[in-house]
Amino acid sequence: MKFEAIAVENIPLIQDGDDLPSIICENISLQDRDIVIIASTVVAKAEGETFRLEDVPAGEKALEIAARIGKDARFIQAVLARSREILVERPFMLVTTLSGHTCVNAGVDESNIEHGFLLYPPKDPDRSAARLGKKLEELTGKELSVIVTDTNGRAFKIGQTGVAIGIYKIKPIKRWIGEKDLFGKVLEITEEAVADELAGAANLLMGEGAGGIPAVAIRGLDYYCEDDTCIKETYRPEEQDFIKKGLRCLQRKS
Ligand code: GDP
Ligand code: MN
Ligand code: MN
Repeated sequence: MKFEAIAVENIPLIQDGDDLPSIICENISLQDRDIVIIASTVVAKAEGETFRLEDVPAGEKALEIAARIGKDARFIQAVLARSREILVERPFMLVTTLSGHTCVNAGVDESNIEHGFLLYPPKDPDRSAARLGKKLEELTGKELSVIVTDTNGRAFKIGQTGVAIGIYKIKPIKRWIGEKDLFGKVLEITEEAVADELAGAANLLMGEGAGGIPAVAIRGLDYYCEDDTCIKETYRPEEQDFIKKGLRCLQRKS
């Protein structure tokens, strides 16, 4: 058994309005059932999500949080603009974004963008993935899956990893429930986070710095799905999200 991860090289610095699918197709010959992994940084750049801190007027809530935690109120305003709920304020802002993803700073980032500029993550990464995927399929005539990724930390371990924040035509979870283990015992709870694992694998080629590799094709794994899928289906239903409940308790106490 094996699969391949192929870096898409020679992609230029992406600007507002750039046609990412065409740029990708000019630099790799995609095959049926390839999984095209694209860093959210370039998706956001192409969607014109860059901004300057000077242009963000801080509202009352941002000023209040800034006073409490001693950070730039304009940056907090930018985070709030993309957040549905703040779970942790200090020592970092852990939020749930408008699209339901939970991460630090709502994914607002200043790396790999010109000096003086910041980047909002794509507003609706599932929609971005679908738009990119449909265009890639149109250009190539192939059946393709897409994963839009970002780099996130983990709650209980040091080190960040690539994660899926938007998907197109891929099953994000592989259910092992009902399958047998080596000894014939029936698995009862295991569901494998395939989209995140693929994001992590692609991230090995992307890196986090000046590598200039914002897209990777994974070839040789069959997770293709005809139906509409979205990463939102992997976010835990509120009533089952015990970690969030705990964080809310702590917020109320502090
Ligand atoms: P994120 O994980 O989505 O936040 O993206 P990163 O900032 O970690 O970048 C992932 C990869 O994409 C790295 O190899 C960057 O050097 C590369 N990258 C970021 N922006 C661009 C761009 O505009 N053009 C190219 N060619 N590479 C980029
Ligand atoms: Mn990022
Ligand atoms: Mn990254």
